[in-house]
Amino acid sequence: MEIRDVTIIGGGPTGLAAAFRAGMHEISARIVETATHLGGQVTALYPEKKIYDVFGLPEILGKDLVRDLIKQGLQFGAEVSLGEAVMAVNYKDDGLMEVITDSRAYPTRAVIIAGGIGLITPRKHDADGCDRLEGKGVYYSVQHLELFRGQKVVIAGGGDSALDWVINLAEVAERVTLVHRSDDFKGHASTVRQVQQLADRGRVGLHISTVVTALHGNSHLEAVTLRNSRGIEHTIEAQALLPMLGFHMNLGPMTQWGLKFEQKNIVVNSRMETNLPGVFAAGDMVTYPGKIKLIATGFAEAAIAVKSAVEHVRPGEKVRVQYSSIAGLPKKKLEVSA
Ligand SMILES: Cc1cc2nc3c(=O)[nH]c(=O)nc-3n(C[C@H](O)[C@H](O)[C@H](O)COP(=O)(O)OP(=O)(O)OC[C@H]3O[C@@H](n4cnc5c(N)ncnc54)[C@H](O)[C@@H]3O)c2cc1C
Repeated sequence: MEIRDVTIIGGGPTGLAAAFRAGMHEISARIVETATHLGGQVTALYPEKKIYDVFGLPEILGKDLVRDLIKQGLQFGAEVSLGEAVMAVNYKDDGLMEVITDSRAYPTRAVIIAGGIGLITPRKHDADGCDRLEGKGVYYSVQHLELFRGQKVVIAGGGDSALDWVINLAEVAERVTLVHRSDDFKGHASTVRQVQQLADRGRVGLHISTVVTALHGNSHLEAVTLRNSRGIEHTIEAQALLPMLGFHMNLGPMTQWGLKFEQKNIVVNSRMETNLPGVFAAGDMVTYPGKIKLIATGFAEAAIAVKSAVEHVRPGEKVRVQYSSIAGLPKKKLEVSA
């Protein structure tokens, strides 16, 4: 296994930015990501949503931002291992470290943790038939808006995600029906108002104090049964059910590595150093006074974390941050030692 100067745990926006910065400093990098895709929360939770606050990009779809981050971040030859959860970080006698996943050990000189909110899994709907039809009409995230064009879509939930998707899908779906178990929505007041207006205009079906109890269809979803608080059931035609019930976030074994945590976030200093030597952290997973969780802050922290990692990898060397507009890009592929 090749030794990489830095191993980045997590391939979300922060991890991809870190891979780019590593290339700019001409150190070799590897990303280890537990999901089977890059892009972190953006890919998992909102690839089809527009993002308006990545500076310099007034408006960009989540998936397009990830596409560009991958293009930019991996251009210097960072190795990517997908579908592997990092279980431990060990120190070896020869001064190297090892990042241990569920299947391999990766030798490295430094580690940057960019684990975001940890492992993300959607809360599953318990309606009868939901498990059986997952991927065949039941989807826990909207990866491609066009998949729902002309379909009858039922959305279950009462938070911002459910309400936002009602509004977005009302544009493409033949019919959108929102089913919420209570009569109290948890979304922003303006979003709730928009959904109410769509319902008033007959563009959206609204069923409050109602639950989805059963799904019907063999190879694909065909209909769902709803039950209201008075116990009255009726079945409506549907080709898609989107349960938007929130997510479980799990830090996994990371909490056992000896890292200092504060409310499920890794404590770092202004150099993005954790309490473990050679281990740096950035992005949604870190905390320090004034921390805010945004893509933009993750980018900046990635740049700082990589500089600190370079100083660790090349002790005694003065590490300079050069402007890309002046220094240009370094050579494309970096050498790695075996
Ligand atoms: C619905 C929603 C909308 C949002 N909208 C915006 C917005 O408009 N603007 C904005 O700036 N921010 C927005 N955010 C926040 C933004 O998505 C995050 O700030 C950003 O994704 C953080 O990036 P990250 O790389 O630090 O973490 P993440 O995106 O969470 O990526 C971390 C990655 O690490 C992986 N990982 C975790 N643990 C391990 C492990 N042990 N081994 C291997 N891999 C691991 C995870 O699988 C994940 O892919 C939004 C968030 C949500 C939920």
